[in-house]
Amino acid sequence: MGRYLESKCKQCLREHQKLFLKGDRCFSGKCAFTRRNGALPGSSKYMYRRTSDFAVQFREKQKIKRIYGLLEKQFRRYYALANRKTGDTGYNLLAFLELRLDNVVFKMGYTPNRTTARQLITHGHFLVNEKSNNIPSSILKVGDTVSVKLSSQDNNYFKDNTAKNEIKYPKWIKFDSKKNTGTVVGIPSKDDMDPSLQPNLVVEYYSR
Ligand code: SF4
Repeated sequence: MGRYLESKCKQCLREHQKLFLKGDRCFSGKCAFTRRNGALPGSSKYMYRRTSDFAVQFREKQKIKRIYGLLEKQFRRYYALANRKTGDTGYNLLAFLELRLDNVVFKMGYTPNRTTARQLITHGHFLVNEKSNNIPSSILKVGDTVSVKLSSQDNNYFKDNTAKNEIKYPKWIKFDSKKNTGTVVGIPSKDDMDPSLQPNLVVEYYSR
């Protein structure tokens, strides 16, 4: 499975934006973006940069890819799927990404970030509809349930459930904290998506 080898914090610095790739650290004073005031090592964020339309579209594509931890080939595959579907291609693209199993596990609060979600899924700790699923890229459907395998419930990641009470779940996820099980109850709407993302720029990039 391909993955980004560049440090997560460097990816935020490269995109001039906090991408929240690490979990709790991103909200603390230890965040590299906050400490460096958004400047890449050896550069100044005030440096003059001429920005073409192409560069803006390219950076937006890179940013969304990095947030969801995808490589170009995988990302392009989601774009092709979104393009084939009727409706707004940019929104379809984000909906596909949101419904990936690793994102759903992260949004359900089982893990602090998508990278950990992906790792724990690959190690076979999760069930989807009561069946083992170790494929982080699986696209979930409305009605699918996600839970932790009985044999994995003693794992440190899943023992402490208290933090889940503070999570604000998106409308398309319903979480039963007593059963420690989440259900996809709808398709993510535009309102559920990060307003800072501009998927239309990705569409423009691939439509060149
Ligand atoms: Fe980005 Fe800060 Fe999180 Fe590092 S700690 S991944 S710079 S948001």
